[in-house]
Amino acid sequence: MHYCNECAKENGWPITLFKSQGLCEECKKAAVCNEMPSSKLPKKGKPETIRCQICGSNDVEHVVQTEVFHYGPKRIKVEVPDYESIKCKNCGESVGFPESVKRAEVLLKEVRANEKTD
Ligand SMILES: [Zn+2]
Ligand SMILES: [Zn+2]
Repeated sequence: MHYCNECAKENGWPITLFKSQGLCEECKKAAVCNEMPSSKLPKKGKPETIRCQICGSNDVEHVVQTEVFHYGPKRIKVEVPDYESIKCKNCGESVGFPESVKRAEVLLKEVRANEKTD
């Protein structure tokens, strides 16, 4: 695979040390391209452009980190590892991936259940 920096950014593909002048296989433009075996690329073809659900901006960042929530009046700390979210650089809002939100809900439910038995 042979792709320009712009396509790398758009698709989340790595910027490689080895580059050569040629046609980008993705956008077909002549550019200094990154050389990467296509098997190393996460997805073939363009994924859907991710947009901010709040303001609609596509200037977003995919963030994976341990997210910390504070639940209830006691501010009980709940940590969700590998919480995936889309952080918008335009409005600053962060929206969790459905799978991550589900995991967070399960953890919060556990905390709530433990609280009742106390
Ligand atoms: Zn390109
Ligand atoms: Zn936004």
